[in-house]
Amino acid sequence: MNNDEIVRGFCKVLDSCETRSRAELQAQHITMLERLCRHAWQTTPFYKQRLKLLFDDDGAFRLEAWKDVQPLTRRELLEEFESLRSSDVPKNFGGLLFAETSGSTGQPVRALWTDTQQIATQCVIRRFDQWNASEPHGLMVTISGRPISSGPTEYEEEHWAPVYKALGQPGRHVNINAQLPTDHLWKRLEEIKPQHLKVRPQQLLAIANIYLSRSLRPSFELATIRLYGEPRGKSDDDTIAKVFGTRPLSNYSAEEVGHVALECPDCRRYHVVDEVTHVDVVDDANQPVGAGDIGRILTTPLYSYAMPLIRYELGDEVRLGEADCHRSQSVDIAEIMGRRADLFHHPDGGLFRPTALVLTQTSSLLGAAAIQIVQFDPNRFLVRYQADDVPGIDARKGAVSQVQDAFGFRANVSLERVAEIPAMANGKRNVFVCEIQNPD
Ligand SMILES: [Zn+2]
Repeated sequence: MNNDEIVRGFCKVLDSCETRSRAELQAQHITMLERLCRHAWQTTPFYKQRLKLLFDDDGAFRLEAWKDVQPLTRRELLEEFESLRSSDVPKNFGGLLFAETSGSTGQPVRALWTDTQQIATQCVIRRFDQWNASEPHGLMVTISGRPISSGPTEYEEEHWAPVYKALGQPGRHVNINAQLPTDHLWKRLEEIKPQHLKVRPQQLLAIANIYLSRSLRPSFELATIRLYGEPRGKSDDDTIAKVFGTRPLSNYSAEEVGHVALECPDCRRYHVVDEVTHVDVVDDANQPVGAGDIGRILTTPLYSYAMPLIRYELGDEVRLGEADCHRSQSVDIAEIMGRRADLFHHPDGGLFRPTALVLTQTSSLLGAAAIQIVQFDPNRFLVRYQADDVPGIDARKGAVSQVQDAFGFRANVSLERVAEIPAMANGKRNVFVCEIQNPD
């Protein structure tokens, strides 16, 4: 079977799951969880001890012990990368690839994926589109972060996403680099006139503010607005709806685990895609919280056979909801608190959202375990990094030009090695901090 055939087969399975009974889905889900845990326990040095409690002396699965399995932290994923690898990845899972994270906690990590895992998560986005009644043939604009130096600032594709390419469903798709000044993005949207827009919330708010401050209306109508990458508040939604006439929706995902949950257009909560992932919401003692309570989200991607991530700590706080929506019977997330990243001021005016890739690349050059970039004025930045050893002069020079290349202008960048990245007033360690007062 080639990958396109696998995509088509997987889409059929996902579609059929939407009409199956809760008991049937639950049984299938537990079978998949057990299979993954057994695989992790038997083929991965890291889990040999950690998952022992899930199996009795005869090797039978003990689901009741699941809540006592210690969560896997980002730090463990960083430091135990080799021992987390499976020594026996099933052949039918295809080739191996790396999924690199955005480093939204200041600690970029990567996970080893299989082709099947990637296909599973790519297919999930189609359900999100179906829920939003959007067929992939309109004009979609995606504003996403990548280093300015990595290629053209804008390019066009013939499909909204890889899943539609496999299904033979074309749709025009323009990708614009998120690091361009907001004013440029605003102009391009006015010229392109998209019907669907995918962008980070803070960036869309900055664009909305251009319309508001100039008392203008968009010259195009958006059928859907998809937000990703960071949580948003109700007042953000109100501003976006006021300017664009459409309420935004998000899918909740992370690079190292894929899609986790989709925001529902009816109840406006997030329904976990439990065909591909298992979610726990836990308290400080790692025990499950009840509906309505806030806890840390742990996720177990059910296809992570190359590098099993069992109860992986995403680093976000969420409020658990009640699973009572007609669209989904899976775990319900009422609210995602998460974290936010600041926008930076561009020296030519306007705001831009720095790409998270700059964190990955700069911290790898500096050998840093954690990193933070602070802007003091439009041309002056400080990179704070936490590293055991003092990096060499070449690494430091490389880090400075890495930041300049990624932002696309010759910023004045200084480096500071710190014992720990300072926490903000809210206790979070933000990766992009703008210290410029009186933002416009
Ligand atoms: Zn719903």
